[in-house]
Amino acid sequence: EGISGEPDYVNYESINRNLLDKEQVKIDDADYVIDEPLQRRHHDIKRTIDDAEEKQFIQTEIESLSLTIKYDINEYLDKIQDQDYDAHFLWNIKEIFDKKIKEFDDQPKKYNLSIKFKVKMFSHYLLNAVDHFERMQKKYRDKNDLKKLVDRVYKLPTYAIFMGIFTRCKKENIAANILCDSLENAILTSVKELLPQNIYDALKNKDEFNSKLRLIEKVMYDLKIERSFKYYIEYIENTANSLESWVEKYVQNYCSKEKNYQTMLGAEANKIFNNKVESLIMCIDEVLVNSTIKFKEWLKEFNNNAKNIIPLTDTFLNLFGMAEVEVKDIEYFKIEIKKNLRRLQQSYGNILNAWGVQELDSLKEKPYKMISKTLLGCKKQCPFCNVICSWTLDHPGKKHKAERHYPAGIAGFCWPKSKELILDSCNENIASDKYFRCAHTNFKNVKYKEYKSVNNYYRSWIIESDVSYEATAYWNWVFANFSKDFAEHYGLKCSKIPSKWKNLKEEYVENSIKR
Ligand SMILES: [Zn+2]
Ligand SMILES: [Zn+2]
Ligand SMILES: [Zn+2]
Repeated sequence: EGISGEPDYVNYESINRNLLDKEQVKIDDADYVIDEPLQRRHHDIKRTIDDAEEKQFIQTEIESLSLTIKYDINEYLDKIQDQDYDAHFLWNIKEIFDKKIKEFDDQPKKYNLSIKFKVKMFSHYLLNAVDHFERMQKKYRDKNDLKKLVDRVYKLPTYAIFMGIFTRCKKENIAANILCDSLENAILTSVKELLPQNIYDALKNKDEFNSKLRLIEKVMYDLKIERSFKYYIEYIENTANSLESWVEKYVQNYCSKEKNYQTMLGAEANKIFNNKVESLIMCIDEVLVNSTIKFKEWLKEFNNNAKNIIPLTDTFLNLFGMAEVEVKDIEYFKIEIKKNLRRLQQSYGNILNAWGVQELDSLKEKPYKMISKTLLGCKKQCPFCNVICSWTLDHPGKKHKAERHYPAGIAGFCWPKSKELILDSCNENIASDKYFRCAHTNFKNVKYKEYKSVNNYYRSWIIESDVSYEATAYWNWVFANFSKDFAEHYGLKCSKIPSKWKNLKEEYVENSIKR
């Protein structure tokens, strides 16, 4: 008999699977460890069962226990099948389980089930039962959902059931409830449709989004604060992507910023919601009622007017069938629907106030994409140094350009013999008599001055040739600061960084961001 100090458990996973698949319990040999009998518990010694015969015996006992529990729970689930879902069902299942386990524990045995094993066993039955309950709850919800009820009832050849509810409650109130239900959905849809534009409008005049150049400056400034090579290399390899994520984060921060217990997104959402409710209330008042007007006609006219305020769906149009059931007191109906709308406004106030990143992400149109789209324009990058084209949506022709280029080593250009990253900017290189080669030139030397001969993409870049045009202090600073990281990233060697790049003053570097 082996003695083990390890915690006891029976490998539940194997049991779990087998319960589902084969309606029987199998115990994995390797993990077959269970408690000592209770009477020896005070020794606090756990026992590993090595004897195959004993193992088989316990296996059989647990199998039959599991089958009887399963049987009793299934019997119970069958019994409540057609009842409306009730939270007490879960407790009843627990009781059935506890009863069975207690009976099992009370029988004299040489071993005992561990608590952990019991919990896992129970959670397995519970999971099975929850499936049942979920179906029941859905059935229950569907049965009690007014809107679904209306949909269902209209599919029947007769309105008898529907009429039944009507006779038990004031027709005007029921009609107001159903109508308000449809309006609620349409108002929410409308809020979600209008929000992106509202957020965009609130942000488009921010300094950051004044121009592509301004945005780039802001991002470069933030990158310098972060001082992370990872962010720099992401920016260099896919600048447009980096800019877009920056805008996205900015919009997220803006939208979730709280003021007076209200997020900025919540404030905008509430503004739209309230605006829609006010317009609908005006619309309700505008549809006149006189002694001859029928409810049906009233609804039709209301629908015509309300369509301009919120998107009304087919469900709403189905409600015209409701007019078959004569609502006589239209004035009273109008008061009720206005009351309902006010109630809606109140209950949504707090919900909308808390709207944040999650709701922002759920919008079909993304405000950050709207900003990036109008701001970024051309996303092409220099074939040498990777600097992004400065043109936005007003791109004249197909030629790309950038005011200033980076040191070429930033994009992985090196001297062929020393493998050292190149410090010179594209403008300087093109003004020189040097050659370059890369995959695009089939690794044949091409004069920088003749870079346009490489291919159409090289030809589409206008790079000013100017020996005095070294990269900005900012990018020299980046190169000097991360030269080791760049070399490692490209599998090349560090270049000798000019001492003036190393000793650049922070203020000077930051000022060089602004051109
Ligand atoms: Zn370049
Ligand atoms: Zn361009
Ligand atoms: Zn190339």
